[in-house]
Amino acid sequence: MLKFSNSYIDLGEQFFQRSIPQKVAAPKLLLFNGELADSLFFTEAQQKNHEVLSQYFSGNELPDGSSSIALAYSGHQFGHFNPNLGDGRAHLLGEVIDKTGIRRDVQLKGSGQTAFSRRGDGKCALAPALREFIMSEALYALGVPTSRCLAVVSTGEVINRGLAKPGAVVTRVAASHIRVGSFQYFAARGNTSSLKSLLDYSIERHFPEINSADISDVNSNNFSEEQRILKFLEYTLDKQITLIVEWLRIGFIHGVMNTDNTAICGETIDFGPCAMMGTYDEKAVFSSIDEYGRYAFGNQGKIGQWNMARLADCLLPLLIEFTDENGSDTTSSEKAKEQRALEKVESVIHQYTSKFDEAYYVMYAKKLGMNEVNTTLINDLLAIMQAQSLDYTQTFLLLTKSLANSIKEEELIRKLGDWYKTWIATLKQYKITKLEARNLMKENNPVVIPRNHHVEALLARCEQAVTDNENQNSIDKPKIITDIVDEFLHVLHSPYQEIDATKNYQDTPEDNDRYYQTFCGT
Ligand code: AMP
Ligand code: MG
Repeated sequence: MLKFSNSYIDLGEQFFQRSIPQKVAAPKLLLFNGELADSLFFTEAQQKNHEVLSQYFSGNELPDGSSSIALAYSGHQFGHFNPNLGDGRAHLLGEVIDKTGIRRDVQLKGSGQTAFSRRGDGKCALAPALREFIMSEALYALGVPTSRCLAVVSTGEVINRGLAKPGAVVTRVAASHIRVGSFQYFAARGNTSSLKSLLDYSIERHFPEINSADISDVNSNNFSEEQRILKFLEYTLDKQITLIVEWLRIGFIHGVMNTDNTAICGETIDFGPCAMMGTYDEKAVFSSIDEYGRYAFGNQGKIGQWNMARLADCLLPLLIEFTDENGSDTTSSEKAKEQRALEKVESVIHQYTSKFDEAYYVMYAKKLGMNEVNTTLINDLLAIMQAQSLDYTQTFLLLTKSLANSIKEEELIRKLGDWYKTWIATLKQYKITKLEARNLMKENNPVVIPRNHHVEALLARCEQAVTDNENQNSIDKPKIITDIVDEFLHVLHSPYQEIDATKNYQDTPEDNDRYYQTFCGT
């Protein structure tokens, strides 16, 4: 079925614990991602064999070639370092090279306890499993770098989340699960040789261009070790900036940007407490445990830099070991090496702010139909949206439509006042036609996002249907779930185009999400 390899295992036993998924009572395949499956070489016949798929993607049977492991990692959680995290409820089955030649991890989540479970039950409830499927598909279609879900299988078991909840296993596919926390795990243990192995592996897997001579120094064919380490930091940082700016573009709040949830590959991972911002608010936060708004919408950029600084910390011992001598005097060489290493990583980390700001304003310029940045125009609009609590997605959609005269300009002038006139004048000044601007805006402003109230309403219906079904055991559970989520997924798959059903999901919530809360460890 899947052609597995297990390159992560070759790194050595210190990187993981071998662990087998826990068998479940009555696995039923609820959702299966056909498009993703195609990309992983699933045949049509295999995709139709729900019996086999439900056995594999519940963890009841291990597919041939898979070697199930739980990964070791540490992490800063809300700023506090925990050296002992790791996959407490996930099993990496292995890696599959997809049709584009990219190595993808295939991982079960909610598949039982591992050596890293601490006090957790190793399980996942149905609603968060479906939520991860829906949200990651939405992000994928919106063009945001993300892990994706291959399957959701209900287990037929009840788990305890304060209330009794139906259990599920979700299969996640990601470019890898190497996190900043994976580096922290070895840095915290002073294990420089494993750090070096992880660095080399990450470069080979995610930034092979660092190893190729093409972009190396003109004077030498290859990067020095010091240059490789710094390039790795720089490329990882660039990917984080791209990711976070994309989140901001669509109004996504990740909710738990801990270093153990920060993937080196720059994909969105871990959707537990994520949410979409309706009303524009830099301080928007929905996670029940984020008391101080550390991961608020408008703070995500800054946190990205903080997380990259934590990665830089881990790279310091490697840099010190591989710093070029450059004839520095041997008596002070240790101190000098440390100082030099610190300066080197700081210079990369300091670039974050200007790089981020540039990407941020270019992104907003495009949302306003411009390839040229006008920071005042952008800042002024954001300030108006903040002050007047305007809906983020709808405001940009209205602006886009106003260029086609499909809504009355007066409506926007009433909302945005002189700003609207200034924007139109700026387009003229930059010699951008309304058509050009509108086309650019249509590519950058979604017509629909997975609004919290729609996601939650859908999940509640699914949960109810599965609970009812588990009690009666008569109705076709997978079909009910498919019926409930299909229309929504179909709409979310065309986020830049209004199709028939789009209008069913564009409305803003009645309470403006004032009481909406999301949760970790679900
Ligand atoms: P998360 O908030 O999902 O990123 O999880 C943070 C850490 O808690 C990771 O080490 C997870 O594996 C672990 N964890 C979360 N939920 C559970 C659970 N139900 N059982 C065991 N470990 C868990
Ligand atoms: Mg996590």
